[in-house]
Amino acid sequence: MKISHSHKIDALNRILLPKELLRKLGWKRGDTLSLCSDEGAGETLTLRLLTKYTEPKCFYCERVDIEIIINRKAVCADCLEKALEKL
Ligand SMILES: [Zn+2]
Repeated sequence: MKISHSHKIDALNRILLPKELLRKLGWKRGDTLSLCSDEGAGETLTLRLLTKYTEPKCFYCERVDIEIIINRKAVCADCLEKALEKL
């Protein structure tokens, strides 16, 4: 195992993942990671990429400029306006 970074856990129990390392791994802000600890000595924590973050898209037209989330469905401004006109 290659140890190339060392960081302290901060007061809010966080550690910083260096930008260079994230770039190397292809991980980005919003990606979901799993944390797995070694039950033995308690000195190992493994981070594994679970899912890549994808921008929410409009439920109706798939645009990414989301105006509102309704019942867990993202809706863009145009589709929201069309829906409101039908009320
Ligand atoms: Zn839309």
